Amino acid sequence: MSSTATSNDTTTQDAPRWDLESIFPGGSASDQFVEFRKRLTLDLETAEKQAESLPRGTDAEARATWVPFVLLLQDLAARLSTANSFTGCLASQDVHDDAANAMTAEMDLLKSRWQGLNTALESFAIAFDDEAWSGWLEDERITGIRFFLDELRTRGQEKMAPELERLAQQLAVNGYHAWEHLYYKMAGDLTVEFAADGESRTISLGQLAMYLSNSQRDIRREALVKLEEAWESRASLAAMALNNQGGFRLSLYANRGWDSYLQEPLNLGRIGRETLDAMWAAVRDAVPRLVPYIEAKKKLLGIDEFRWYDQTAPVGGAGRTFGFAEAGQFIRDQLAGFSSDMASFTDKALAERWIEAENRPGKAGGGFCTDFPTHKATRIFMTWGGEYDHLMTLAHELGHAYHGWVLRDAPFFSQGYPMNLAETASTFNELCVTDAALHAASDPSERLMLLDQKLGNAYVFFCNLRARFLFDCSFYEERARGMVPRARLDELMLAAQREAFGGTLQDPDGLHPLFWCSKLHFYITGYPFYNWPYVFGYLFANGVYDRAQKEGPAFADGYRRLLADTGSMTSEEVAQKHLGVDLASRDFWDAAVERILADVEPFVNQARDAG
Ligand SMILES: [Zn+2]
Repeated sequence: MSSTATSNDTTTQDAPRWDLESIFPGGSASDQFVEFRKRLTLDLETAEKQAESLPRGTDAEARATWVPFVLLLQDLAARLSTANSFTGCLASQDVHDDAANAMTAEMDLLKSRWQGLNTALESFAIAFDDEAWSGWLEDERITGIRFFLDELRTRGQEKMAPELERLAQQLAVNGYHAWEHLYYKMAGDLTVEFAADGESRTISLGQLAMYLSNSQRDIRREALVKLEEAWESRASLAAMALNNQGGFRLSLYANRGWDSYLQEPLNLGRIGRETLDAMWAAVRDAVPRLVPYIEAKKKLLGIDEFRWYDQTAPVGGAGRTFGFAEAGQFIRDQLAGFSSDMASFTDKALAERWIEAENRPGKAGGGFCTDFPTHKATRIFMTWGGEYDHLMTLAHELGHAYHGWVLRDAPFFSQGYPMNLAETASTFNELCVTDAALHAASDPSERLMLLDQKLGNAYVFFCNLRARFLFDCSFYEERARGMVPRARLDELMLAAQREAFGGTLQDPDGLHPLFWCSKLHFYITGYPFYNWPYVFGYLFANGVYDRAQKEGPAFADGYRRLLADTGSMTSEEVAQKHLGVDLASRDFWDAAVERILADVEPFVNQARDAG
């Protein structure tokens, strides 16, 4: 990583545009893509007719005819996934592409139609007794997607009758999900007057968020003040949205006979309650050990009290910049030290232009990685700015892409992994690259920046994300007894932050009571308790990385096989089979925490030398 480039011009000009032509040529005007969607829509129609006439029951005739139907559903799902990815790529590379935006609505419709077919399959599955079901799964055409089918049946059994679930889904569109849309609309419409760089401008909350990690404390403080002012004006409405979403969920759960608000998140994560509890217990006990890090950081920042807006305050850094090609090569070389398979995959992704990184106007913000299962290809979206953050984003997304690559030959229904395992490969890559960067960094200020990035992550995962989880739990406890007033939501949030941050934040004016308004994660209907999977993924990846450190390249194939099984096992089974550990006990989580906390001492020493 010996960068000679110093200006942004030279470091950003080699960032490539991606190749979408080899998937469907012609962008949003592609005839081939029109044809692909037309065929997909026709085949969905055919499947819908078929679903109506398929025999009900579980006799020999039904068992025989439902096998090809399952395979058809799988094929449709893979093609839908490709179409959805391509549409997403088009809409992101040019936000003004109206044709692409129209296709997004078309995709939503196709997805809901596929969902209807899946519900039909669920009705078929729950009609079986256990023995007959196992017998049906012996069919060699479907035995490779056994996990998917078993899960579908189990989830079906836990729900209301299929016709009631369908009704609930339909009502949710204008009820449950509408509250989420209302929240997004409010957040999107909110603007603030913000003074920075000598001028006052009207900016969105998205733009305001950047200032929360500004290097100047006055600016960070002002950003939080403005954020709280903006949400204060909408807090009673946000409280309605949160209460009504929560109420809908609890009514649905009660009608399904579920006794815990955690059942849905646990199902989504393919984990048991003991696993979640063991993970949080390890995190809870780790927080006091981050105190020396926060104390050292306070000294570096020259402050006496650590506040909400200091969480992501930058320290150190040598202002080093990287060209795209240089960064790609650096990442590739680090991965090569562990796995030749990962290195050659990275070569392929770079050479075949799987990455959109050009810095140009009209692109969407953020970064993502998306798969084209029918083409066994993946694309990465980001905007290259030449800074260390961009190097990490590239490493992160290349990790996701490798995960997709490893799964490319599996049946599509065995490729779907839960969110908590989704961050394994991406975080693994980040750890590989950060460690190498730390190793290569001779400049003390750069070392300080790198160590702070690592520990800053730990602080956010252990404290900030746990506060969200604690808030969610206490909110659902109280919501079960009735509406939770706005003022009470503030109190619950303050209590959650007091507990999760372990006294590291100045109390009370260093806390952020309106966090339940300002964090959109609380309003995502598709994934309740949206926060714990990040913590799980972070710790799990650290555990996997620890194994890779200890065993070196000998573990490379084991790592590949671990990723390959993420789509067809519970999270506990993946860990047991490939790491020989029990996620329901604390040992694994404690070891992962230990590895993360090992950076505290070097940071404290480095900070002392800098002071
Ligand atoms: Zn990710």
